[in-house]
Amino acid sequence: MTELTLRGLTKRFGSLTAVEDVTLEIPNGRFVCLLGPSGCGKTTLLRLIAGLEEPSAGQVLVGGQDQTRVPTHKRDFGMVFQSLALFPHLTVAENVAYPLAIRGVDRASRRKRATELLDLVRLPDVGDRRIHQLSGGQRQRVAIARGLAIDPKVFLLDEPLSALDANLREHMQVELRQLQERLGVTTVVVTHDQKEALTMADVLIVMDKGRVQQMGAPMDLYRDPANAFVAGFIGSTNLIPCRLAGRAVELAGTRIELAEGDRVKCADGDAVLSVRPEDVRFAEAGLLARVTFIRDLGESVQFTLDLDGREVSALFAPRERPGVGLGDSVHLAFEPGQRVVLAP
Ligand code: ATP
Repeated sequence: MTELTLRGLTKRFGSLTAVEDVTLEIPNGRFVCLLGPSGCGKTTLLRLIAGLEEPSAGQVLVGGQDQTRVPTHKRDFGMVFQSLALFPHLTVAENVAYPLAIRGVDRASRRKRATELLDLVRLPDVGDRRIHQLSGGQRQRVAIARGLAIDPKVFLLDEPLSALDANLREHMQVELRQLQERLGVTTVVVTHDQKEALTMADVLIVMDKGRVQQMGAPMDLYRDPANAFVAGFIGSTNLIPCRLAGRAVELAGTRIELAEGDRVKCADGDAVLSVRPEDVRFAEAGLLARVTFIRDLGESVQFTLDLDGREVSALFAPRERPGVGLGDSVHLAFEPGQRVVLAP
């Protein structure tokens, strides 16, 4: 079942189009990450879904019902903001139950629900404390509990973990995902951190300049990016200018036949070849390059190479480390079936 549908959703601020013609469907129970660089329109899109921003054009539907003119507090949405927006003058339990209070739920039911939710986010026994008596991670959990208080149809979170340090953040990513899986609530999270998105999401929506560039399962976007922007944004990749002619590309004066599984996303002519660093191999013959830098990263070894004036990165497991050093010349091969030819 489709829970959330966006149709031609557009938001203009004066002459700036922050969100442009976004049409997509999010099935029930999915964990979706809205991912993109700063200013690409992620927050604006989330605010449009939430009803905190009025669209210049387009519609928001939940379970097939048009919500575009429904005020925020009447949409069955739970929300967690970047700032958390917890109230210092209320106890933890009162914060959690706040959305119920404004909906007129009685005190005893609120108290019961707050206890349930605090258990759910693994924070029992802090209901009577004040917000300032909690750690950063605990506050995060309180904000998540409050977002779930009304048992929302759709759970919306804007950079919910950005204030946490790296370790706690990774921990909370896993926790949030596990919680969502248990509850099965359709969830949309804004993040600019691709690793965070890959950890949590079963659907990624990559945005740039107000437009959706691609939507799909994380590994599909990684292996089969629609364009050079997505290829470069999800994981790291080498984008090497080339010329495409049928099922072959020419680069650095060498012709490379494409294999089964290699994808072509553009017309013949100028193009870029996307090759992941882990798919670059050292070979007996082929493209000639020179080693310009070697970086030991512990779990892998990264070689930086100069290929015809272009920088190319190759990644090896420590056990497969090639026996070449700085300044050495090597031949490069790109793993057949893992290459993508994209529009420049
Ligand atoms: P970030 O990751 O930095 O938060 P974002 O992808 O969430 O960025 P938005 O906050 O949605 O981006 O902003 C998209 C564009 O719309 C930006 O150029 C921003 O300056 C502009 N914008 C957002 N809100 C307003 C507003 N209320 N008035 C005018 N311009 C706005």
